[in-house]
Amino acid sequence: MPQTILVVEDEADILRGLRDNLAYEGWRVLTAGDGEKGLALAMKEKPDLVILDWMLPGMDGLAVCRELRARGAQVPVVFLTARGQEVDRVLGLEMGADDYVTKPFSVRELVARVKAILRRAAGTAARPAKFAIGDLEVDADAFTAKRGKKNIDLGRYEAEILRLLAQRRGQVVSRNDILNEVWGVDAYPTDRTVDNYIVKLRQKIEKDPKNPKLLITVHGAGYKVVEPA
Ligand code: CA
Repeated sequence: MPQTILVVEDEADILRGLRDNLAYEGWRVLTAGDGEKGLALAMKEKPDLVILDWMLPGMDGLAVCRELRARGAQVPVVFLTARGQEVDRVLGLEMGADDYVTKPFSVRELVARVKAILRRAAGTAARPAKFAIGDLEVDADAFTAKRGKKNIDLGRYEAEILRLLAQRRGQVVSRNDILNEVWGVDAYPTDRTVDNYIVKLRQKIEKDPKNPKLLITVHGAGYKVVEPA
């Protein structure tokens, strides 16, 4: 069963473009040209994700999102906003927005974000809290790790990076995926930020941070967590 994405957008060209591109990616795509129809469709069809234009005639995107939440719909929402448009991001986040994309946007970028959000949503249930990497025991929800009797405090992002890498153990995770999945919409860090966090993490979890055995760099690709040999 393909996942379903609902696009609510009053600009016909954008709506059509999104529909075609998202369908090309293999998703089932539903469309609505205004907020009321979008809301009704969302409640009826229970899509896996909603792409919601902020500025809609009548009921705007924020109102649609608020109403969805009020009716108990937990579906991830990506807002489309216009460049230079005053958007109350804080209010949007409180309403449960998962991401923002500014128009004009690159479809590739939007598709990448949609994929990341869907993966995150699918992974929430299976999100491991406690796991081991070699002799390191991690409690990602408590932001702590332990090796033998040594307790290690982790920062929130450090814990989330470890959780993500451990979830995809043995696989290379790109900096971009780490940014999308760990930072999401909270901030706009750069690839460099990821590298800096990895350095800090290694100082905490590796016996010899200069010669890492758990958190490995794959040059030109990203990072991975491995079981030490
Ligand atoms: Ca609009």
